[in-house]
Parts: sequence; C-alpha cells; structure tokens
Amino acid sequence: MTILNTTLDQNQNQNQNQNQNQNQNQDQDQDQNQKPDHEPADRLLPYPDADLLFVTELLPRQERERLAELRAFFQDEIRPLAVDHWNRGAFPFGLVPELGARELVRLHLEEDSSLFAGLARMELVRADLSIATFLGVHSELFTSAVKLLGSDAQRERLLPDLISLRKIGCFALTEKDHGSDISRSMATTATRDGDEWIINGEKRWIGNGTFADYVLVWARDTADDQIKGFIVEKDRPGFSSKLIENKIAVRIVQNADLTFDNVRIPFENWLPGTKSFIDTNGLLLKSRVWVAWQSVGIQLAAFDVAREYAVKRLQFGRPIASFQLIQEQLVRMIGNANLTLSLLVQIARLQEEGSLTMDQAALAKAMGTTRMRETVALGRSILGGNGVTTDFEIAKIFADAEAVYSWEGSYEVNALIVGRAITGISAFV
Ligand SMILES: Cc1cc2nc3c(=O)[nH]c(=O)nc-3n(C[C@H](O)[C@H](O)[C@H](O)COP(=O)(O)OP(=O)(O)OC[C@H]3O[C@@H](n4cnc5c(N)ncnc54)[C@H](O)[C@@H]3O)c2cc1C
Repeated sequence: MTILNTTLDQNQNQNQNQNQNQNQNQDQDQDQNQKPDHEPADRLLPYPDADLLFVTELLPRQERERLAELRAFFQDEIRPLAVDHWNRGAFPFGLVPELGARELVRLHLEEDSSLFAGLARMELVRADLSIATFLGVHSELFTSAVKLLGSDAQRERLLPDLISLRKIGCFALTEKDHGSDISRSMATTATRDGDEWIINGEKRWIGNGTFADYVLVWARDTADDQIKGFIVEKDRPGFSSKLIENKIAVRIVQNADLTFDNVRIPFENWLPGTKSFIDTNGLLLKSRVWVAWQSVGIQLAAFDVAREYAVKRLQFGRPIASFQLIQEQLVRMIGNANLTLSLLVQIARLQEEGSLTMDQAALAKAMGTTRMRETVALGRSILGGNGVTTDFEIAKIFADAEAVYSWEGSYEVNALIVGRAITGISAFV
C-alpha cells in the first residue's frame, strides 16, 4: 500500500510540478500579487459560523450577543474535553456547577424566544452531543415536566435545585421490551396503597440514570389502566440502576437500566398533570423539536471539522478543499445543515404562535435526522482514514448521530406520524 502510494505520489508530483509551473506562469500573467487559487484566502469568509442564510440575524441584538457568548463558552470549555471523556465513557462531573451557574437549564424552560432557545441548544450540540444530552434530559424532560405537569408544592420544592443543577433528574419511559410501542404496551405499574404508590417494573436506556437524584418514571396505574408520571428519589428501597456499557454513541451520557422492585413513594410524588399518556404530549412535542435542533448541531459540528481539515490537508500538493469533488461534498454538508435549520426557523415560528402540531415536529425530526446521517457520513469520508479515529473528532460526531436517529421516536416512527397525517391512514400496526 505504501509503495503504491509513493510511486503514485512521485508520478503525480512530477505532473504537479509541471502543472504548478504552468499555473505559476498563468498566475504571474494575471496578477503578480494574487495567491494561487488552491490556497485558502486570507480574507475573512463571508459567512461566519457557517450561517449561510443569516438565521442569527433574525434574533434581536441582545439575543445575538448572548448566543455569541454561549457559543464561545461551549466551544472553549466544553468541546475540548469531549473526546477524551467520550473515549473513556466518563462523565465530567466537575463541569456541572459551571453549567448550573450559567443557568443553562433555563434554555429548555420556554423562558426565551423559541428561535433563540433552539439556536443556543444547537450550539451546545455543536460542541458536544453528550453534554447537551445530559443537560437536555435533566432540563427538557425532567425539569420541564415538573414545571408543566407538577403541583405548586412540587414546583416550589424542586425547581430551585433543579435549575441550579444542585439536583439532577432523569426521564424513564422506555422499557427493555417496549420502545416504539411504549404508549400502548407499557409494563411498569403503579398501584395505590393508601397514602403511597408501589412501583414495579424495569426501564431501559435512561440517560443520567446512574447518578440522578430523581427519576421521573412512567407507569400504568393499575386502578384505571392509564399511564402516569411519578417522581422516585434515588435512595428509595427497591430501586436500583445499572450502567449500560459498550455504547457506540453519546458515550459520556450515563445511560442505565433501572429496576423498581416494590418501590414505595408518597402519594404526592405523582405529577397531578399526568392523568393519562395524552398529558405528556406537550412535553414530547417540545422534546421532539429539541431533537430536531440536535440534528442541526451535529451537522454543523461535522461541517466545522471537515472544512477545517479539508483546507489544511494536502494531497497531490494541494489542499483537498481545492478539489471540486471535496468542495461539492462540503457544500452538500452545509446545504443539508441549512435546509434543516430553515425548517426549524419555521417550526420556532409555529411554536411562538402556539400552533405547532406533533405532525410538524415529527416532520422536522424525521427529515433533520436523514439529512444529518448523510452529512456526518460525508464529513467522516472527507477525513479519509483519520475519519475513523476519534482523535480527529469526526468519528465521535459520526457515531453520536446514530443515537439522534433512533431516540425521541425513531426515524420510522416519526415518518409514520407524518404518513398518517398526509394520508389519514395509520400504518403503525
Ligand atoms: C443512547 C440512547 C439514550 C436514550 N435515552 C433515553 C432516556 O433517557 N429515556 C427514555 O425513556 N428512553 C431513552 N432512550 C430510548 C429511545 O427512546 C428508544 O431507543 C427509541 O424510542 C426506540 O425504541 P427501541 O430502542 O425499543 O426500538 P424498537 O421500538 O424495538 O424499534 C426497533 C426498530 O423497529 C422500528 N419499528 C418499530 N415499530 C415500527 C413500526 N410500527 N413500523 C416500522 N418500523 C418500526 C424502529 O423504527 C426501529 O428501527 C434512549 C435510547 C438511546 C439509544
């Protein structure tokens, strides 16, 4: 392999030298001071941060400045520690107080404009999907549930520590035998016994599940057969968690199998806003949109790495970014990212109006993640052999994308939601 490459390189070098001489002559003819076309221009590129459609310009100045600050923090403080922790499957607990001090949980609590919140969460994913997922599971799925579906007493008792990240939550819906069909076939049960509930069952894949202080567990009330949400504190007898190891994606996130063996909790640990599974709709609508934003963050992360590599990596004596085929691939990557981003601008507008439907959120998740899969594959390929080691970051991004494709309703399930909306026929079973 090496010999072949060397011979090829020698031949090509000769050709190149001739070509370069010709090019040099031409260049000199054209403009003595101009650099050859294949060298990256020194001037600033016209689209900072790959925002080709000036989406950030839609934000008012104050939000634009805040977004720039957040982006700098994510890129400077989070991105550099991600690969090492990802490789080791280790969670950076030391970072949590800083995330709390910056009140990043609020990005998920609908306190900002939908577009700003989306772009800010996208930027965190761009730095690292795992850390974004830790924060999102805690904020979007647990803290939002307490805020939207909890009682006044629960909100008062829990929210301050959740917002400052002094206490961490997780969201336990999926089971070993039930993922896509969880709303129909949930096996975990909650049985009322006087002033208490008794929870029995097993949950799978639960992010933050090894260390969360609180679990929001979804269980079928044996009295009326409806699915409801309950808060279980981690030290309740009968509760246990086991880390899921050997993942190929989001390796920093501590996903766990959880067991509830006759776990007794006080009656008031039930979230009163959850009388049936339909009550989770508002929550799942929001989290589905968040995952669509993840698909843009991942694409931009892949683009950032691939672009930087392509302008620096020399082959045949020129940066690979000077080859037409590589430029086309970079354009497809940034094009995919901007297509998804444009879709999300409209989704954010519908959210602001309060008219966003689950069909629309499912469309954004399904289409964003298909674009994402193509984008990360192109990015990985642009790095050639270096694309298969996490040392160059892209392999982490490539692998992480697979989790986004499957969670929050797999691609197929989201496609079926849209399919039902456009045909009037449910094809789930
Ligand atoms: C890294 C990671 C983190 C996660 N974190 C959490 C968490 O914090 N909390 C939580 O509750 N869950 C979590 N999940 C679970 C996630 O939501 C589920 O994996 C997802 O809903 C899919 O369920 P499943 O894995 O059981 O796949 P299945 O439902 O078994 O699906 C397997 C395949 O069959 C397809 N399929 C299923 N039904 C149909 C159908 N009717 N028509 C066509 N195709 C179909 C699916 O699209 C998929 O391709 C996480 C998952 C992962 C991988």
